[in-house]
Amino acid sequence: MQLGILKETLPGETRVALLPDNLKTFLAQGITVLVESGAGLGAGATDEAYTQAGATVTTDREAILTTSQLLPVVQILSAEEQARLQPGTVLIGFFRPLDSPKALLPAIQAKAMVFAMELVPRISRAQAMDALSSMATVAGYKAVIEAANQLPRLFPLLMTAAGTIAPAKVFVIGAGVAGLQAIATARRLGAVVEAYDVRAGAKFLDVDLGGISGEGVGGYAAELSEEALERGRTLITAACSRADVVITTAQVPGRPAPLLIRRAAVEAMKPGSVLVDLAAPAGGNCELTQPGVTQLIGGVRLVAPMNLAAEVPAHASQLYARNVVNFLGLIVKKGELVPDMTDEVVAGTCVAANGAPVNPRVAALLAPPPGA
Ligand code: NAD
Repeated sequence: MQLGILKETLPGETRVALLPDNLKTFLAQGITVLVESGAGLGAGATDEAYTQAGATVTTDREAILTTSQLLPVVQILSAEEQARLQPGTVLIGFFRPLDSPKALLPAIQAKAMVFAMELVPRISRAQAMDALSSMATVAGYKAVIEAANQLPRLFPLLMTAAGTIAPAKVFVIGAGVAGLQAIATARRLGAVVEAYDVRAGAKFLDVDLGGISGEGVGGYAAELSEEALERGRTLITAACSRADVVITTAQVPGRPAPLLIRRAAVEAMKPGSVLVDLAAPAGGNCELTQPGVTQLIGGVRLVAPMNLAAEVPAHASQLYARNVVNFLGLIVKKGELVPDMTDEVVAGTCVAANGAPVNPRVAALLAPPPGA
């Protein structure tokens, strides 16, 4: 069996699916590893490092695509490349299968076995494969660093001979994986932090949702009624007006990001303050967000990053690669591909195999509309 590591091609993607340190597990099982030249450079892994780890480095991308049985990637391949995959090739990466399942059709039709990291069930046993959490950790940290970089003020309290500098006030919306890391990072830099979430126990700022539970299945957020959202927005507007930095991370799995910051809340913010909308890839938590664009609105800088993890490529790749290795450990044993579709982690993560959708949510999205 052969494992291929490709150089990512999407603009701005600096991560790599596996690093030289990850190859031992595969080589020890007799699996050969073919690496596209330059694949790891963004993450600080040279071709030499892959060679020393036991891989063969090549510039022949086509050979990697068409002769590897295991193809872990970070981002989706182009439609043309997907169509050239051999039947049975295991393709695994971040593919947004619930947002744009049709983008995977060429790989599905080529009968590749497609696994999407977004679908890894969030159960204890699969935590070590949870790449969404890994990337959210990196993004939560980097959002604060980005905000600190853009802010015309310092974060910590400083008492100097030239006077006292008050600490920055940071308001974090959504205390999930990214939000908790943002809170911790802002505190480490000396900021005073407020935070808000709808899930019970995650509230630092209390909001009366009128008896409505913000918690859904498995401890994740439920989509709120418009009335409950509006109560949250009033409180959020007040907290935004106090803050120097606002970081929003609120998401509801499988749904567009909740709209929590209206134009009025941005207008209530102090000139020079910074809003980082980490929910931008899911549409954003702020009404004014333009995903991927930084705007200056009445002196407030609104940043809407689409791929913050790629701005910390070495550690983002290290965490992602470990998640990939752990997942592959479930389906590759003693150098053989042995996917057990009765295992909820394997089947739940599988977008499609043998030309047919496997994950029921993806299958429903790909099914022709009734009467078609
Ligand atoms: P997420 O990215 O889906 O959402 C981020 C946060 O936004 C969540 O905390 C959510 O409650 C919050 N949110 C949603 N709607 C909101 C609203 N209207 N107003 C304010 N906040 C809102 O969630 P996540 O960070 O991926 O995970 C959420 C929780 O699940 C975390 O506490 C995490 O520890 C836990 N988790 C468990 C596992 C596991 O057991 N395998 C894996 C990952 C995460």
